[in-house]
Order: sequence, then C-alpha cells, then structure tokens
Amino acid sequence: MKTSPLKIYLIFAIALLSACKNESSTLTVDRELQDDSQVTSKHDFGADARPKNVIFVIGDGTGINQISALEFYKEGNVFYDEFPIVGLSKVSSTSLITDSAAAGTAMACGEKTFNKAIGVDAQGHDLPNLIEYMEEQGGASGLIATSSLTHATPACFYAHHSDRNDHEIIASFLPKSGVDFFAGAGLKYFNNREDKVNLIDSLASNGYTIETSGLKAYPDAEKVGFLLAEKDMPKILEGRGPFLQKATQMAIEHLSKNDNGFFLMVEGSQIDWGGHDNAFDYMISELIDLDNTLGAILAYAQQDKNTLVVVTGDHATGGLALTADKDDYNKIKPIFSSPGHNADWIPVFAFGPGAESFSGVYENNMLFHKIKALLSPEN
Ligand code: MG
Ligand code: ZN
Repeated sequence: MKTSPLKIYLIFAIALLSACKNESSTLTVDRELQDDSQVTSKHDFGADARPKNVIFVIGDGTGINQISALEFYKEGNVFYDEFPIVGLSKVSSTSLITDSAAAGTAMACGEKTFNKAIGVDAQGHDLPNLIEYMEEQGGASGLIATSSLTHATPACFYAHHSDRNDHEIIASFLPKSGVDFFAGAGLKYFNNREDKVNLIDSLASNGYTIETSGLKAYPDAEKVGFLLAEKDMPKILEGRGPFLQKATQMAIEHLSKNDNGFFLMVEGSQIDWGGHDNAFDYMISELIDLDNTLGAILAYAQQDKNTLVVVTGDHATGGLALTADKDDYNKIKPIFSSPGHNADWIPVFAFGPGAESFSGVYENNMLFHKIKALLSPEN
C-alpha cells in the first residue's frame, strides 16, 4: 500500500465489554486514513469490454455496516477497498425483507420471488439459472460455500424447489447439474438420506470425483466435488482455516481449463449466522475470511484480465451499527439491534471487463440480467 502524505493514525482502544451479548469483546483498532487521491487498483478495461469468466461472490448477511467494520477490525489490507466500481442493490423479495433463498433466486435466476423459494418464481415455476446458462454455452461452472451446498444461497444456483428446508430434495439436483467444481458441506444430505438413495453414487455415475476428507488436487478429474462436513463447515473460530480461499484457488485452477470461460459462485455463508447470533466476533471472523478470499480472487483477476469479479451480499443481518461508546468518539462499539435480516440497500463491488455495468442503484434481480448480458455472445 502506498504511503499517503495525509497519513493520520487513529488509535481506538476498545475496552473489554463482554457483560452483554450486544457488546463486542476487546479489540484494539489502529486505523490509517487513506488519502482520497490514492488509487488502490488499476482499472483500464474498455467501456464495452466483456468478460470470459465471472466470479460472483456473496457475503451472506453482509451489508455496508459489516463491510465498514472490516476497516476497523481487520489487520492488514481490506480487499473490498480495491474495487473501482460500486453500486447499490435493493434486496426486497415479494416480502419487504428477504431471506437468503429469495435473494439467491433473484441473483441466480433473475426474478423476485417468495421467501424460502429455491430457483422458482412467485408461482412456483422453475427458473433457469446462471450456471445452467453457462453450461449451455459450453462453459464451466463452480460453487463454493462455507455452509452445506444444499443451503439456500448455493442451492439457488442449481436446484428448483419451493422450500429451502428440504435439503435432501435440493441435494438430488446436484448430480445432474453440470457444476464442474463444488466445495462445501452437507455430506449427510447425499449419503444418509431418508429415501436411502446414495447420491454419492449418483455423483460418481455423472462423472464426479468426490472427496470427503479434505481439499486436495485432482488435476485429471473431469468434475470434482468436495463434501467436507456432515452439515456445515466449522466456524473460523473453531479452526476451519483458509478453506474458502484455498477452495476458490483450486476452483479457478480447475475451471479455467475450459476455453469457453467459467462462472464461479463463492459464498461466505456464516457471516449471516454471526449476525443472527448477534455475535460480533463470529461475524467479523467470517467476514475477514471472505475478505482474504477476495484478495486471492482479485490477484487472479488482475493478472488474467478476462475475469469479471462481482461481490455483493444477499441482505444485511442483525441490524448491526458501529456506534460511539456513549460519548467517547475514540471508541467504536458494535451493536446489533435485531436477530433477523434488514431491509437495507446492499453494496455491489465490481472489477474487470464489464464492471461498469454494476454502478448505479438497481433491484437485486438485475445482477442476473447484467451478468447474463455480459456472458452472452455479441450479436
Ligand atoms: Mg447463505
Ligand atoms: Zn439469515
């Protein structure tokens, strides 16, 4: 990072406040203010440049206050800062406040629908999604999550069902999805099912190499899937380690072999769960993990020059606010105001060919239409 002439150091020593669940634990924050003129990333793509590949990153439960918290609570580079193009997305579903299923469907399939809907419209009809579109074009596709792969957000990119809670039904869509690389959890929905069907066998007969013990390279596999925990991946605070970043790098390696391009969805799933729990340390640790993953994605995209990176959230969670600690303006006290989701507009960050399309204010289902238009053959 360049040194700024206007460098100002602000030291926030945040006292230990653990009496109440709404108050975060000890954090000492040392923030360097940036000179406004500082350019953090080069963006020299032509106005009508189009991407070969798209990496779509979703922070579940990640609104502007979550991202702002990175500035104060992450040591080192904040990679959200590196995106040259920013827009705002309105995330209501057919309810005023969305859940992750309806928001996932809007982004993956382009239509607003009811909460709990996985890849179906408001009348319950199947909607084609971005991965199906990419596969039709002969491209490659990938899905990575820190939840079960049958959880609402990733499910919207391959399944079609009216209820997000039916994990076993959702899992049954994956073997025939065409997804070339997946990594996450939810093994039990594949091999320990009420109907006794073993979907690991179905995945194998559809050309998948399936690994359940850890991330390892299968350079010769046609399609590869990692199901690394029964239900969800462990929390970062419980030792998950850099799974998300490593899986993303492995996915890029695998998918970039396809000359027709790839679409990869990467989800930081548990930021939302920290928000629901009103547990700041849980939330921020998951967000730092996603931000580190953004660093790896940007490093690839900056060097590749044919990859569009779009980063957003499906909604914010927990009504998080970064408030002063009473009247002490040198201390930040994060406070949650709700156990549920917010109605806030959600930022969208973009880098790469086509990034300009993501500036402005629009409904969340437009993310699908913008990405699809950029991936469509020019006429
Ligand atoms: Mg999710
Ligand atoms: Zn949620």
